[in-house]
Amino acid sequence: MRATDIIASKRDGKSLTTDQIRFMVRGYTAGEIPDYQLSALLMAIYLRGMDASETAALTDAMLHSGDVIDFSDLGEARVDKHSTGGVGDKTSLVVAPVVAAAGVYVPMISGRALAHSGGTLDKLESIPGFRTNLSLLEFRQQMQRLGVALIGQTEEIAPADRKLYALRDVTATVACRPLMAASIMSKKMAEGISGLVLDVKTGSGAFLKTEDESRALARTMIQIAQSLERDAVALLTDMNQPLGRAVGNALEVVEALETLKGRGPSDFDNLCRELSAEMLVLSGTAGTVEQARTRYDELIDSGAGLEKMQKIIEAQSGDPRVTEDYSLLPASTGTSEVRASSAGFIEEIDTEMVGRAAMLLGAGRVRLDTQIDYGVGMVIRARIGDQVHQGSSLATLHFNDRAHAEESADLLAKAYKIGPREAPAPVLIKERIK
Ligand code: URA
Repeated sequence: MRATDIIASKRDGKSLTTDQIRFMVRGYTAGEIPDYQLSALLMAIYLRGMDASETAALTDAMLHSGDVIDFSDLGEARVDKHSTGGVGDKTSLVVAPVVAAAGVYVPMISGRALAHSGGTLDKLESIPGFRTNLSLLEFRQQMQRLGVALIGQTEEIAPADRKLYALRDVTATVACRPLMAASIMSKKMAEGISGLVLDVKTGSGAFLKTEDESRALARTMIQIAQSLERDAVALLTDMNQPLGRAVGNALEVVEALETLKGRGPSDFDNLCRELSAEMLVLSGTAGTVEQARTRYDELIDSGAGLEKMQKIIEAQSGDPRVTEDYSLLPASTGTSEVRASSAGFIEEIDTEMVGRAAMLLGAGRVRLDTQIDYGVGMVIRARIGDQVHQGSSLATLHFNDRAHAEESADLLAKAYKIGPREAPAPVLIKERIK
């Protein structure tokens, strides 16, 4: 088999065989097929798509590129949640500790920032000392001791996704249904869970912008989970404006910690509550979603979720004092306000543009080797439906480089559509798909 022939087949719109897909995934993971050939294949897949059997074969090849963990010795209740990616989406930092505090095992494998969207691993690594690259042995030991671990794809677990994810990030091939489904499901099915809650984003800040495309992605992922005999449920959630207020790694950690203390922004807290409730039901810990919501409230009010987060940080070599002293987190040297150029109502926010404005500040990667600046980002002040006056603050930028801040401010201002109509705030949870 030759990589060039396989690339040409997909370029010409043909279906790839399972063997061809395996050959490319194996070869790339082993370092035998170079980045430039995989980049070409990814772009061909992006443009030509993949059918259901190709998507299943890709997921399977990526899943078996490393170890598939068996945590059945831990018991029945092993669940996780994964988001398809958005702006200001820091829910993992809240739901993982809260659900684990309820006695459910949460072995969570997450990703880094991808294109304009943030990544859980980068957020966690903004905590001084925090390690996301645990070995398989360390992962297992922490699961036994603490019931939860937050790690990334490694050389041992889902290594194909580790490499492909980073390559897609810098080759404009992220927003592609089969590639997203295989990326998400390969790492999630490798982590030894019995059930998965999917947070499938839709709207201007999501990779898939329309509800139809996002729903199709949800269905593809649920089918993959079912074919591997795992329980899965998806919530289709709004990404037409940033989730919560904070966008940028350390700023988002602070917002997540505030939410664990019961002081988070209501939209963000509400989504964490719903996703946690689905996880508690899927694990069998709660009988109904209503009971599960009450359990979430108790775990926040009692501080049990926050305490679990402190333990996770400590176990993964981070400084747990950050939970009480936010000044220990990286911060920017400067701040500035982005102001409304006219009076009216916020009608729309181009949320992908907001994510790109955060990237410009240094919160995301533009190349494989970009070093993230953990302290930069923005705090969103005006949301859809809000009334603003000329000169009102739309957002506060946190920056380290003034030239980048000016470019970012211009982009952010363009992301806001201010008009005369009082737009309704978007519905956060649009649909539950099972
Ligand atoms: N999250 C992932 O893990 N992979 C994707 O492709 C998109 C979001």
